[in-house]
Amino acid sequence: MRSFFLLFLLFWLPFAMQASKLTYHLSMPQPNSHYFAVKIDVQENTAAVQEFKLPVWTPGSYLVREFSKNLNQVRAIDAQGKELTVKKKAKNAWEVLCNGAATYTVFYEVYAFELSVRTPFLDNTHGFVAGAGVFMYTEETRNQLGVLKIYPHASFKKVSTALAPADYKSEPGCQTFVFKDYDQLVDSPIEIGNQQEFSFMAAGVRHRVAMYGEANYNIAELQRDMAKVVESATAVFGSNPNQDYLFIVHNVTDGQGGLEHLNSCVLSVSRWSYTGSNYLGFINLVAHEYFHLWNVKRIRPIELGPFNYDQECYTSLLWVMEGITSYYDELLLLRAGFYTKTEFISKLQSQINYVEGSPGSRVQPVAHASFDAWIKAYRPNENSSNTTMTYYSRGAVIGAVLDAYLIQRSKGKQSLDGFMQLLYQKYALDLKRGFSETEFEQELANYCGEDMHAFFKQYVNGTAIIPYQQYFEPMGLKVTDQTSTLTNFGAALEPGEVLKVRTVRSGSAAEDAGISVGDEILACDGFRIDKAGLENKYNNLQPGVSMELLLSRDGKLFSTKCVMKTYAKPQFSLQIKDANAPLLTYWLR
Ligand SMILES: [Zn+2]
Repeated sequence: MRSFFLLFLLFWLPFAMQASKLTYHLSMPQPNSHYFAVKIDVQENTAAVQEFKLPVWTPGSYLVREFSKNLNQVRAIDAQGKELTVKKKAKNAWEVLCNGAATYTVFYEVYAFELSVRTPFLDNTHGFVAGAGVFMYTEETRNQLGVLKIYPHASFKKVSTALAPADYKSEPGCQTFVFKDYDQLVDSPIEIGNQQEFSFMAAGVRHRVAMYGEANYNIAELQRDMAKVVESATAVFGSNPNQDYLFIVHNVTDGQGGLEHLNSCVLSVSRWSYTGSNYLGFINLVAHEYFHLWNVKRIRPIELGPFNYDQECYTSLLWVMEGITSYYDELLLLRAGFYTKTEFISKLQSQINYVEGSPGSRVQPVAHASFDAWIKAYRPNENSSNTTMTYYSRGAVIGAVLDAYLIQRSKGKQSLDGFMQLLYQKYALDLKRGFSETEFEQELANYCGEDMHAFFKQYVNGTAIIPYQQYFEPMGLKVTDQTSTLTNFGAALEPGEVLKVRTVRSGSAAEDAGISVGDEILACDGFRIDKAGLENKYNNLQPGVSMELLLSRDGKLFSTKCVMKTYAKPQFSLQIKDANAPLLTYWLR
């Protein structure tokens, strides 16, 4: 495994040394202050003015996060130590008046105290570098090879990153890495501290796991089970593009999920994730982020790389990137032996019922949910459940439907695996670019030999309920439409004893009665009421029958008459009819 890595380095390191124009220095003199100190040495400069910028977002997380809000004290000096003028040009841009100085140095500090998979963090226990929030770049040098020198605090013994180490000896107290362009620097998170690192081989690739934080994991179990996931994911595509892969795991009180990168990923999980059903959740997250090393990091919409770090990068295809990945994160667990077929179908049923039972499913097509991720998915409000649909869940359901359809119409000769392989070979390996929305639809039509426009119109760009019987019954499932029409209040309450309204469903009895999010329900039909009492009351009222509610809004009491209505919530049951049906056996192999 070591030799693979060295061969890789020998191939491009000599060029790194010759053409490097920017050398980054990262230090952390006082970790408890939460400041990283960054120094950028600029060499071979000829420009009179150079603009340095910090990304406003980080790939994989579709929200403008304004990382520059944490950046302070930007200054620059020439080779003689003379201060150069630095002017702020935009919220994320600084102009250095370097007057053609061939070499000069830029300094700044980054406040890092938000521990998430996408933001930098530093305290006395560890440092985490999410590059988009730490490293400035220039347009002129962003495609050039560069060097990063890390000076860990004396109390930190280890640096874990997928960046390649330099092939020459660093000065004491420094670890030197090289990168082929700025995208790779930003796409290679760095864990600095006293993390426990272990490794395993899978699919012919060395995988390292860097564990921050105390947790109840068992290394032998993780080596065995993560290897199964890696093998299953690699089998989908037939080959693994990496020579070395790193999982950085933050074991914390409240885990937040993961973020994918080219040769690594970051997982934030509860430190007690490693036993019982929580453990499957961890393995599922591993499968999700690992599948992304193909689907989004290499198979991708054209808008997602090379990145515009200055603004939102809109694509209608996040349902493919995140949704199909979500379909595979369950499918890989089935294939790797973590789920039975029945458990997999039960997961799919839950996903379908969540999707079709959400009011927002009838309002927001999944293509629009993808496009508007920046302002809706990542910025939810109290009305989001009425107007939005997650591209993760609906995308996963569409992935399952497409897989079933491809298998049944080709009688097991084609599948979603085959289509993903096609995209990987044609766009990632041969053309080395992303695809447009039109190309994606056309490639699918070409692959299955059928115009898919109506499918896209209804279920991707439209909000129609998918006819699940049509797609899943030929596969050997029994699909029952269990949509029920029940009397429904339509307001959900916050947790706790106070009856505070958390959401109001559009068109519901609660909305008709003028009840709003934030209102507190105090009494019903003249008596004080608790949650159980209110629930019992409205569950036993017939449509058209009313209850008189006393509420408080902003401290002012008011009463309203709430006339009960029915609500038809789409719901489906999926059951395996014949576990040995050939198509089912092929699908759930
Ligand atoms: Zn994802």
